[in-house]
Amino acid sequence: MPAHDQQFRDELRSWLIEHPPPDVDIAGTREEAEVLREWQRTLHAARWVGIHWPVEYCGRGASLAQVAVYNEELARADAPPLLGRAGVSLVGPTLMAHGTEEQRLRWMPRILSGDDVWCQLFSEPDAGSDLAGLSTRAEKRGGVYRVTGQKVWSSYARFADWGIALVRTDPSAPSHKGISMLALPMTAKGVEIRPLRQMTGESEFNEVFLDEVEVPVEHLIGPENEGWRVAGTTLANERGASFVWKEQVLHQIAIDLLLQACQRTGRRGDPLTRQRLATSWIEVEIFRLHNQRTLTRLERGEEIGPESSLVKLFWAGMSQRLYEAAVAVLGPDALLLPTDEHAVDGGRWVLGLLASRAASIMGGTNEIQRNVIGERLLGLPREPRTR
Ligand SMILES: Cc1cc2nc3c(=O)[nH]c(=O)nc-3n(C[C@H](O)[C@H](O)[C@H](O)COP(=O)(O)OP(=O)(O)OC[C@H]3O[C@@H](n4cnc5c(N)ncnc54)[C@H](O)[C@@H]3O)c2cc1C
Repeated sequence: MPAHDQQFRDELRSWLIEHPPPDVDIAGTREEAEVLREWQRTLHAARWVGIHWPVEYCGRGASLAQVAVYNEELARADAPPLLGRAGVSLVGPTLMAHGTEEQRLRWMPRILSGDDVWCQLFSEPDAGSDLAGLSTRAEKRGGVYRVTGQKVWSSYARFADWGIALVRTDPSAPSHKGISMLALPMTAKGVEIRPLRQMTGESEFNEVFLDEVEVPVEHLIGPENEGWRVAGTTLANERGASFVWKEQVLHQIAIDLLLQACQRTGRRGDPLTRQRLATSWIEVEIFRLHNQRTLTRLERGEEIGPESSLVKLFWAGMSQRLYEAAVAVLGPDALLLPTDEHAVDGGRWVLGLLASRAASIMGGTNEIQRNVIGERLLGLPREPRTR
């Protein structure tokens, strides 16, 4: 590792020792959200939020290698995901690519500081994989868009001040052509948010009902009716480098802890279970090598494009197999929730097992990734399209 990257690592590591992360992992309640907001403020005060953003927008202009180090150090310190992560990883880059200078100056500093939390209002009950089929409509009247419709699976919407919403502004245009992106104030009249309870017991997701919500026309991000192209930037960042490096470290830590737990508890499993453990260790290593290759290619200025679907698909399977192997080898106590005193490692294995089911859905399902690989990497015939 070059000396300046090592220096960067040392600086962050010492800072994290002086500023230990809070013991809250996910914002299920308003109090937990406040703890996470405060943590983001602390990080921001030392310029440790949005390090990949350019210096003129209060980032550090960090290199890809430094972003990898950053994710590694935060994961090793057991730091929780940022409350404002959608703003930092999705909204900021979208505003940099498509927003006006006025919008950037207004929203970007508050995204980093945690003063404004953003959520992503894309998916709808009838528009997930087929996002272009969305039906939430926005009618322009008297200097405002009036937005009516329903969004779903909106992470952290309950604690959000703003949402980036995809809305239909031209119902007569073909589905991809009549969509626009708006910055929607979550506290506006007509916004109703209902939390969804997940199988982990937490409520990270929400349904968001929009009834004639007034959004000033200046909150349009990018040109009207070109929201599909603007959303392309948002989605590319959702599956981007920062995400995979964080996941790589989290899974390296998980496999190391699992092997330690086997030694500590004396549970080794039958030969088939041992093979599953070995497979998981190998898969985490393969994932690391995939990510190293991505890093090298990005540093050379190459685009990753549809090959990111390979890594996304591999990650989802790797994550699910690792947690399934963990509960198989550690036994029934590994299925106890953190509230139970007998839970192994504070319940991390059951929470990981349940959360890993989302891996094959979020950011594009496994089936959609396979379609991309088949059509765009292998040149197979296109799947039938309904629209
Ligand atoms: C952890 C997590 C966080 C999320 N956060 C957000 C968020 O903050 N904001 C937001 O807007 N959304 C969010 N989502 C929603 C996510 O983007 C959607 O769940 C995802 O796009 C799939 O859409 P769907 O759930 O409507 O499933 P559907 O699209 O209805 O798919 C149902 C099934 O059909 C299959 N299928 C669909 N189309 C095809 C096809 N063409 N070929 C083959 N099979 C197909 C799918 O693979 C799947 O198995 C989140 C999801 C998860 C799991």
